[in-house]
Amino acid sequence: DQLISQIAAGEVVERPASALKEILENSLDAGSTDIAVVLQSGGIKQMRVSDNGCGIAREELQLALTRHATSKIASLEDLESVASLGFRGEALASIAAISRAQLISAHASEKHAWRITSEGSFITEIEPAALDAGTLVDIQDLYFNTPARRKFLKTENTEFGHCEETFRRIALSRPDVSFLLQHNGRATMRLAAAEAQKRFEDVLGKEFAAKAFYLDESAAGLRFWGMAAKPTFSRHARDTQYVYVNGRFVRDKLISHAIRQAYQDVLHHDRHPVFVLFLELDPALVDVNVHPSKTEVRFRDGQSVHRFIFHALNKVLAAPVG
Ligand code: ADP
Ligand code: MG
Repeated sequence: DQLISQIAAGEVVERPASALKEILENSLDAGSTDIAVVLQSGGIKQMRVSDNGCGIAREELQLALTRHATSKIASLEDLESVASLGFRGEALASIAAISRAQLISAHASEKHAWRITSEGSFITEIEPAALDAGTLVDIQDLYFNTPARRKFLKTENTEFGHCEETFRRIALSRPDVSFLLQHNGRATMRLAAAEAQKRFEDVLGKEFAAKAFYLDESAAGLRFWGMAAKPTFSRHARDTQYVYVNGRFVRDKLISHAIRQAYQDVLHHDRHPVFVLFLELDPALVDVNVHPSKTEVRFRDGQSVHRFIFHALNKVLAAPVG
């Protein structure tokens, strides 16, 4: 069972960045307004996230690390279906199963903070600790007990690049939260809580901010807003395009297509505009997490979403502005 859960966790925690995403989302779920990420060696050697959220009570602390649903896994053949279920309440447990983990948390119901330590999901210690507020998640030696998975990792720099991208995606979606990212002892991003436009500039650069439109369109229960580069500011790579549906980063063919079509007449076909765009709509009209790892979505009425996005963007792109 232990082995199976390690293998399953290795499948789910595909790379350090996948773990970072889950840990950061937990911090945000906890209502944090200040989050610091400290990485060593691309997040493989160490991934430490501290936040000022609501914290975890002592008894929950143990659950948070051990709730791995081994009962769901009857055999190795089931791994595929486990992976497709995603983390649903077992992200931390999955991460802990393949690392040396430490959680320190301060919760309002406790007199002081508590620390829980585990190694490959064996709890080794629960003890009083010093921490004023929030939670500190410290993951060390990711994949130490799953050498097969560790072999699939790229260089530390590549893994850090993925972590940085995960961090960027989340930071762009939460301008109200301050973030710090540190790698191998060097601060690589320091983001103060700010208005959305300031955050976009801080993350995507001054040049982008100077050469982008701000748009904010609403119609029939849909809102589409954010910043999109003018045709004069585009790149050869497609990697600086951020789309969110109800606050979650997505890669969606329908939305991408609508955006590309809006740019079609004003941009050379091998150029890619930089943008950070948010679609907001009634959650009942969209299925986020069609596949948790692929961040896909499915719309109840895709056609009207497509039309709305196309027109919202086309309007600013067609406008005679410098
Ligand atoms: P899920 O987020 O799906 O509930 P996780 O495994 O990601 O599952 O986290 C387990 C639980 O641990 C969460 O439900 C939450 O109660 C608690 N938790 C994890 N990280 C934090 C944090 N940074 N602050 C407060 N609670 C946390
Ligand atoms: Mg979670």
